Formats: sequence, C-alpha cells, structure tokens
Amino acid sequence: MFEDYLEELAAKHLTRRLLPLESGTGPVVRIAGRDVLLFASNDYLGLAGHPEVVAAAVHATETYGAGSGAARLVSGSLPPHQQLEQALARFKGAASALTFGSGYLANVGAIPALIGRGGLILADRLCHASLIDGSRLSGADVRIYRHNDMEHLAALLAKRRAGRRTLIVTDGVFSMDGDLAPLPELATLAHSYEAHLYVDDAHGTGVMGAHGRGTVEHYGVEARIPLHMGTLGKALGSSGAFIAGPDPSIQYLLHRCRSFMFGTAPTPGSAAAAVAALQIVVREPERRRRLWDNRERLCAGFRRLGFTLAPTASPIIPILIGRAETALRFAEQLLANDIFAPAVRPPTVPAETSRIRVTVTSEHAAAHIDQALVAFERAGQMTGVL
Ligand SMILES: *Cc1c(COP(=O)(O)O)cnc(C)c1O
Repeated sequence: MFEDYLEELAAKHLTRRLLPLESGTGPVVRIAGRDVLLFASNDYLGLAGHPEVVAAAVHATETYGAGSGAARLVSGSLPPHQQLEQALARFKGAASALTFGSGYLANVGAIPALIGRGGLILADRLCHASLIDGSRLSGADVRIYRHNDMEHLAALLAKRRAGRRTLIVTDGVFSMDGDLAPLPELATLAHSYEAHLYVDDAHGTGVMGAHGRGTVEHYGVEARIPLHMGTLGKALGSSGAFIAGPDPSIQYLLHRCRSFMFGTAPTPGSAAAAVAALQIVVREPERRRRLWDNRERLCAGFRRLGFTLAPTASPIIPILIGRAETALRFAEQLLANDIFAPAVRPPTVPAETSRIRVTVTSEHAAAHIDQALVAFERAGQMTGVL
C-alpha cells in the first residue's frame, strides 16, 4: 500500500523530498557542499540570524532552560512568554494577546473555539491548509468561496439561514499567490451580515503596513477587525504564533483553544527571540524599505524577461508554470545554477497551477538579485517556459 502510493505520486511528478541544508538560513545557504542563493525563505527581514535575536534566545535558554516543562496553564508560563504577550499586544495596539506554538496550532485551536456544530464557515478557496483543517475540526459546515470574490461571498452570506453563526476565514497575504485579501470589503460584508471575520496574517506580520503591523495596517482597517492572528516564524525570525484582541476574547480563547491548553508551552528561547525581533521590527523600518526595494527589482526583472507572475502584492512572487513536471525541471535548473527557489505543486496549489514560488528578503543584495535573474532566464529557456 505504501509502495503503491509512492509509485503513483512519482508517476505524477508529485514526489517530495527533504532538501537538507548544511547551514542556517540566510540569503546564502550551503546545499550539497555548494553556496546557494536562497529565494525560498519567509525570514523576510533577516531576523532569524540577527545577533540581537540570537542573543535573546541564548540568554533566555541559559536563564530559563531549553524547555518550558509544562503547558502554559500549568507551570509553563515563564517570563519570556509573559513578556512576549505584552509586547505583541502593544505592537498590535490591542488589550491582550495569546501565543501558540505555531500558526498551524493557532488556527486549529482558534477556529473550533470560535464556532462549532450548527455554525457556518465561509473560507476563501486559496486559504491556508491550517485554516481548512481548523474549520473541519470545528464541526461547522464549511463552504468555499471563489478566491477574493466578494460577490460570491455576499451571495453565500445572503442565502444562509437567518441568525446562523457565521465565520469568514481568509489569509491576509495568500501564502502561495502573494496577493492580498480585500480586507476593507471583507470587514464591511462581515459587519453588514453579522458574521465574524478571522484573518490569518502569517505572511503580513512584520511585512505589511508602514509599521509592519500587518495587512490590517496596510488597509487601515485595524479598528474594524477585532481579532488579529499572526505568526512569529516568518518575518519575526523565531517560531510560534499569536492572536491579539480585546481582553475578554483573549481570555475566552485561553479557556477554549485546545491546541493552547493541551500542549507544552513554546521554549523560553523562541519566545525571547520573538520579543527581540519585535523590537527590531519597530526600530528599523529601513528593513521593510530594503525588502520592498528588493521585491521591486526582482519583479521588474521577471517581467522584463517575460515570465507570467501571479498577481502578487507582497514579497511572495510566484512564477506561474502549469505542469508539475515542468516546474520541477525549472527548479532543478535553478539549483544547478546555485539558486534555490522551490517548485510548488498540488496538493499545495490547485491542479495545473504548479509554480516556482520565489520569496525575497531585505538581506538580498542587488547583486544577488541580478545573479538570480540570469539563472531564471536560463532555466526559463531550457524548460521552454520563456
Ligand atoms: C505559514 C502559515 C501558517 C502556519 O504557520 P506556522 O507558524 O508555520 O505553523 C498558517 N497560515 C498561513 C497563511 C501561513 O502561511
């Protein structure tokens, strides 16, 4: 059975392999004994390796230990967790915040806490797998609306049974397409149909908005959306996730999110690293400026070469290819030229929309981007994409 499954995958060019790095993350990584330029990391601001962030993790580990020893509600709420939740609430301009071990855990914990059997969840077709899994786990009915299609969403809202508890779930920045959810329209629809809105801003946190407060800040709708979910493992360079909001809703989540209640608290080191990263996000807006400049340089280069890009509005820049096999060959060609950008295939993306998912960070030098463009042109020609 296992072999049959694996053979079937191989025939469809859908086998997955771990790519072992011989270094930490960064714009230059070590793969198979070679230095490779990385265009695949979500460490958008280069904070995972920032000396202050690393020092904070080391210091907290030395002070409080490598592990937390228990769940948060037992004896696992150590000083770094308390500091992190206070810092996140301040950062998001919210009364309170609750942290989780990962974004996946936040979503599979929070959605079933917010809605259950008898309720209705309306989810964007391209929303993240963890939102779908959390939705299924909730026991509510799940309906999918066409990607960012507000008319479709409004129609689904209009035809539901009056008074039915409803939760709209969406990514803020879509992780595989790099485009944004139309949050002002979503907030308006949610308000007029008395639905709740849950925005997963994993890729927006630290990146979007003048102060990095996320896609809600980008659109100026922070006050119109009460609960703010973001992650700490992407632009914040650590690991974990948070939900910030009014104190009663955060206290409610603390009592109802099973992924929060029944898991060991995140390590003191990861919490302290996120605290340090938040300080840098606030203190050094130039990192975001460099990130957006780099994104502009790379996008302009791709367009000049003639690639078809997804309608991105973020540092996630997908080059649309179509067939899984072609996307794989493209990625192999890139790697042969010391550039790593992954082929993303089904089931991560819909059938026939395989792509090269390129991400850029504030730490890429202009020369890195220009070197990458040469390799992309070559790979595009060798695979017939260009
Ligand atoms: C990465 C991601 C997650 C999962 O977050 P982790 O902290 O990596 O578990 C959830 N939602 C979206 C949209 C993501 O991109």
